[in-house]
Amino acid sequence: MIGTLDAKIPPGPLAQKWRSHRDHMRLVNPNNRRQFDVIVVGSGLAGGSAAATLGELGYRVKCFCFQDSPRRAHSIAAQGGINAAKNYQNDGDSVYRLFHDTIKGGDFRSREANVYRLAEISNNIIDQCVAQGVPFAREYSGLLANRSFGGAQVSRTFYARGQTGQQLLLGCYQALCRQIAGGTVQMFPQTEMLDLVIADGHAKGIIARSLRSGKIERHAADAVVLATGGYGNVFYLSTNARGCNVTATYRAYKRGALFANPAFTQIHPTCIPVSGDYQSKLTLMSESLRNDGRVWVPKRKEDRDKPPGEIPEADRDYYLERKYPSYGNLAPRDISSRAAKQVCDEGRGVGPGGRGVYLDFADAIKRLGEDVIRERYGNLFEVYEKITGENAYKVPMRIYPAVHYTMGERKYPSYGNLAPRDISSRAAKQVCDEGRGVGPGGRGVYLDFADAIKRLGEDVIRERYGNLFEVYEKITGENAYKIPMRIYPAVHYTMGGLWVDYDLMSNVSGLFVIGEANFSDHGANRLGASALMQGLADGYFVLPNTLPNYLAGQMGKRPSPDSPEFQEAEEDVHARIEKLLKVNGTRSLDSFHRELGLLLWDKCGMSRHEKGLREALEKIPELRKQFWREVRVLGGDEDFNQSLERAGRVADFLEFAELMCTDALKRDESAGGHFREEHQTPDGEALRDDERHAAVYAWEFQGDGQSPKLHREPLHFETVHLTQRSYK
Ligand SMILES: Cc1cc2nc3c(=O)[nH]c(=O)nc-3n(C[C@H](O)[C@H](O)[C@H](O)COP(=O)(O)OP(=O)(O)OC[C@H]3O[C@@H](n4cnc5c(N)ncnc54)[C@H](O)[C@@H]3O)c2cc1C
Repeated sequence: MIGTLDAKIPPGPLAQKWRSHRDHMRLVNPNNRRQFDVIVVGSGLAGGSAAATLGELGYRVKCFCFQDSPRRAHSIAAQGGINAAKNYQNDGDSVYRLFHDTIKGGDFRSREANVYRLAEISNNIIDQCVAQGVPFAREYSGLLANRSFGGAQVSRTFYARGQTGQQLLLGCYQALCRQIAGGTVQMFPQTEMLDLVIADGHAKGIIARSLRSGKIERHAADAVVLATGGYGNVFYLSTNARGCNVTATYRAYKRGALFANPAFTQIHPTCIPVSGDYQSKLTLMSESLRNDGRVWVPKRKEDRDKPPGEIPEADRDYYLERKYPSYGNLAPRDISSRAAKQVCDEGRGVGPGGRGVYLDFADAIKRLGEDVIRERYGNLFEVYEKITGENAYKVPMRIYPAVHYTMGERKYPSYGNLAPRDISSRAAKQVCDEGRGVGPGGRGVYLDFADAIKRLGEDVIRERYGNLFEVYEKITGENAYKIPMRIYPAVHYTMGGLWVDYDLMSNVSGLFVIGEANFSDHGANRLGASALMQGLADGYFVLPNTLPNYLAGQMGKRPSPDSPEFQEAEEDVHARIEKLLKVNGTRSLDSFHRELGLLLWDKCGMSRHEKGLREALEKIPELRKQFWREVRVLGGDEDFNQSLERAGRVADFLEFAELMCTDALKRDESAGGHFREEHQTPDGEALRDDERHAAVYAWEFQGDGQSPKLHREPLHFETVHLTQRSYK
């Protein structure tokens, strides 16, 4: 039974809460620290930074990841940058302004106290990373360089070309390796947490499976930290690495941890076709490009097939600059994505199917010169050219708030007559809404290369787009040289996650959750370059202060791994694995995952409405039943078995999806990325209902087949005034 949700926000003025909280928290003395075992699940930026820091402090840390090395965590994919309120540009930035932008960017659905702390700590993160040797871009003077990201009118984003996540992770990994070498951190790569163990109401361990040997292991500790990333892959297609999943947090939820705001997901507006060589699954064009690129579509539908160079200025609609003059091309992601969708729905989208908008660098190149642009974005332009065959220095990029959807989307007739003229794809949403969509769930359109292959030969097409076709085949099992591609939109980031209090502890004592895995500080929409900031704030600075506050009362309370709680949890894990292997059906895992993803995209994606959500809530249990009747999981449980690994994750997604839709249905308002079609302003913007929904929604598991129970944490805004979000 969970009482009132208490975020335990410290008293006092906003700007002093964190400092005074730290002054009063309990400490663990250095000699006692080695008496405590701490489990950290995840070694991305959040988990890696936490494990390294706790190790340095002298705790005994066991750190787990499912990849073969911490260096492969999904954090490595982050391109654009990390925010901090250093105000190096002297352009008016401050801790308060970063705080304010983040609260507003999240459409007033996050906690003031947490966000203020995040903004304060942002500056420490940069100092820490510079000390580690992270090669941030610098000005000629040697000062660290900045660029702007969406939802801000200042330049506060620190970056390392288009590889910020990779460079930060290398810094973090070095720090982690130092501890591994020093014996304070024991690393368990290729080991997947499959259950949480709770003893006497406290999180005291995990059950994990070695992905190499299949062996199930019990690990006891004095506290458990989950840093297991986001669950965007519930949609099957997203910009996330393919391995990202919900298993750790979902299983903790089933053990009593509350899941907060699961419906809050983010669609990224600047995505391009995928390349297996460059991205793990789907390719994102960093938001940083919108610093210099201008987004536009033709004013008239009739012009959409013209080469962009033949459309004069007067006939172009720079719609973000027009609709949001103050923020222009840097309007936040949810707003930019919907604006792109809107112009495409009006028939003004460019490229095959009319599902793209231009991102144009001509002005910036004229102003700054090609060399400057090359220095800032060179690698991103290279990726783009490799995939699309187009030189973004010469012709505007085409982007769309979709990832997989834009796969293969090229304006062939305009850019060299290499395109399939006769593609059968049309504006995806429009035709799908008309009931003519293809594939599972009817949420796809064909992208047909038959004409191009007839005209140019398969070899030419293979040379130009071979890698994309390969990735496509890997994902769909279909050969696009023979049958038309089906293309879909996808998602980028999940703001929802396990509920945590101000100390980042869940409602289960001793279970801490950090990084993208918690419900985070981003409210209903995360601003760009804020996820890295949050993950590193949590791992380097917040948790190392708040965890001791809990541990101080836990001396000598670690249970033995032989205790009944561990025994029971291990038996549950075995039983679930056995059940998966026993089904022995005929339908592939991918087909279930894909069907689920399409259903979610359709009913709980870029926009949602009551009827659709109710339909999804009927269909998901049916699909789940089918899964347990018909899924084919190959191999056994005593060996390396990726089919089994994935089966467990898909099974969890099939349950979790229902929770997402339940949350989306209950939140009967629009806020940020959660766009309920019933609630919009006359301009088509998200219309919040603060009276009824200015709260965190946290769900409690009530048993299989039972509806989850809702707990509300009301959000109080004492510093920022609740207003209709405007970027005009
Ligand atoms: C393409 C792309 C570009 C991005 N660019 C930016 C950017 O420029 N700026 C920005 O701020 N944000 C960006 N983001 C978002 C940001 O990268 C992520 O939100 C952030 O890196 C998440 O870090 P994390 O440590 O929480 O999780 P992750 O990096 O995903 O790490 C999760 C860890 O948990 C482990 N794990 C998961 N489940 C289990 C389990 N059951 N058992 C054991 N281990 C487990 C994994 O092995 C991994 O080590 C981007 C995201 C994408 C997809």
